[in-house]
Amino acid sequence: MSTSPDVSHQRAGEPSRPRYVCPYDGEAFDQKSRFERHMASAHPPRAPCAADIEKALAGIEFPKSKRELVEYAAQRVPADSDVMRAIRSLPDGTYRDAAEVAVGFGQARGPGDGAPAEREPPSVRGGHAAATEGVSAAAVAKILGGIDFPKTKSELVDHARHRQESVGWASPRSR
Ligand SMILES: [Zn+2]
Repeated sequence: MSTSPDVSHQRAGEPSRPRYVCPYDGEAFDQKSRFERHMASAHPPRAPCAADIEKALAGIEFPKSKRELVEYAAQRVPADSDVMRAIRSLPDGTYRDAAEVAVGFGQARGPGDGAPAEREPPSVRGGHAAATEGVSAAAVAKILGGIDFPKTKSELVDHARHRQESVGWASPRSR
């Protein structure tokens, strides 16, 4: 058994073991391009938005550390879901309210990787914005609207806190 590595034994033209396996349905591909095409067509990418994260964290009581957020969400959403991944990618630290989570999320996602679903023109102050969605992507977009990345976390939190008041997002200590 322990001879020198016998690479030539593998017959040419024979497909080697597929290296790309779809995490959703287990379909296997030996070509990256095929795998990517499958992922794009069968499972169109949908980046989780801040609203997804809030859904996963619904009912949580702040303040919470990032680890606690992850643990809480882990009981509510699948461990391999995009939302879970997004929560795990939040910056370490303590989150005092949903706004800070949204800020951390925006920070983790970084600039230039916008989720189309929640993109809102930052400079337009439209009237029909988000009356129906409650605390949602639209509210988050408003809170972060007009901010320039990159920003440090404290700058973001500052920004969000100020905007939060003007947006009227209920804050535990505003009453
Ligand atoms: Zn698939």
